[in-house]
Amino acid sequence: MAILEPRDAQDLRQIVADAVAGGTKLELRGGGSRADFGAPREVQIVSLAALSGIVDYDPAELVLTVRPGTLLSNVLALVEGEGQMLAFEPWGDAASTIGGTVAAGIAGSRRVTAGSVRDHLLGVTVVSGRGEIFVAGGKVVKNVTGYDLPKLMAGSWGRLGAIAELTLKVLPRPRVTATLIADGLPAEAAYRAMARALGSHADVSAAAHLRRGVTLLRIAGFAPSVEARCAVLPDILKDHCTLRRDGEASALLWREAMTGEALKGRVKWRAHLLPRHAAELTRRVETLGADWAMDWGGGRVWIGLDDESEDIRRIVLDLGGEATLVDAPVGMRSRVPAMHGSAPGVSALADRVRRAFDPADVFATGRFGGAA
Ligand SMILES: Cc1cc2nc3c(=O)[nH]c(=O)nc-3n(C[C@H](O)[C@H](O)[C@H](O)COP(=O)(O)OP(=O)(O)OC[C@H]3O[C@@H](n4cnc5c(N)ncnc54)[C@H](O)[C@@H]3O)c2cc1C
Repeated sequence: MAILEPRDAQDLRQIVADAVAGGTKLELRGGGSRADFGAPREVQIVSLAALSGIVDYDPAELVLTVRPGTLLSNVLALVEGEGQMLAFEPWGDAASTIGGTVAAGIAGSRRVTAGSVRDHLLGVTVVSGRGEIFVAGGKVVKNVTGYDLPKLMAGSWGRLGAIAELTLKVLPRPRVTATLIADGLPAEAAYRAMARALGSHADVSAAAHLRRGVTLLRIAGFAPSVEARCAVLPDILKDHCTLRRDGEASALLWREAMTGEALKGRVKWRAHLLPRHAAELTRRVETLGADWAMDWGGGRVWIGLDDESEDIRRIVLDLGGEATLVDAPVGMRSRVPAMHGSAPGVSALADRVRRAFDPADVFATGRFGGAA
């Protein structure tokens, strides 16, 4: 099937209305960098690439309104040019769009202190699965009455509707960012050091740990403040580790912890769990031959394994967490749901919400198992 490319929200609305009438399944695509995520499916692709461009950017008001097909890299360059940033630290590849990033709920290492996509998404214009355009939220933080629908769209993976425009809160970019590194800590000691650092008055904005014994702590802000906090942190952590200051090279280490990209080529899982269980998780998955990387002070663990079994998911669930199957051969993706299952009550509620937006199941492609 040829890819459909709407030029504006009205075009998009018509495509959805036609799909409702014709019983067609639609899959929304930004850059398509996550096309291999979830079960294989037969669908009509709708590319949002042509819905691109900045609608409004007011640096003084810290607000950016943009169309979904705009490249993430262009959005980041734009705000960086004004000394600002998207605080949830999104990441992706060269094709990634801002719409795909928001729909996939992508947040980087800073999430642990700055919040997630949904905390920074102020407003959306959406074409629902009913073929209706609705606007929710606005361009200021306190502009929401009724249900806060932008929060629902963040991380919805194209299952509720197509985002045709979105407004994000931006924040000033720190003048200076420093990384302090502890070498040689095992996972449990690293978790304790990260927890102590994140809870301290040194105002650590991100904490990550790589299996080869590299623990990263990030301090950002004005130069004198960064220097003062870098000076007190070794004393705060004196019972846990010794720290050294790292330069530019640490950007690659952060990237590794944030994306788990060193695990590429293996069956890759992403675990979200209480940080205090992260070390036990790494101990158990290592017995299966897995490699891993920890971010968010232990709250997110990327796991790479050659085995196509579901052992990783079982272990994560046993520790009270959730496991997402991120990258796997097509056979495994057909067999194993990408998303963790929810408790029956939560699943029923999520399905009721989904059906309110998409009663004809236009966006229910089977990609995520069950009706979705
Ligand atoms: C589990 C996971 C693993 C990742 N792994 C990698 C990785 O290995 N390397 C890397 O570079 N990046 C990775 N990413 C980041 C990914 O590249 C980003 O999510 C990226 O910014 C997505 O942008 P895209 O435009 O390519 O999205 P797409 O892949 O096109 O879409 C992502 C999702 O959003 C939906 N969507 C897209 N546009 C819209 C819209 N306008 N309205 C509603 N829904 C929409 C799609 O239907 C799809 O479900 C990963 C993300 C996740 C969640």
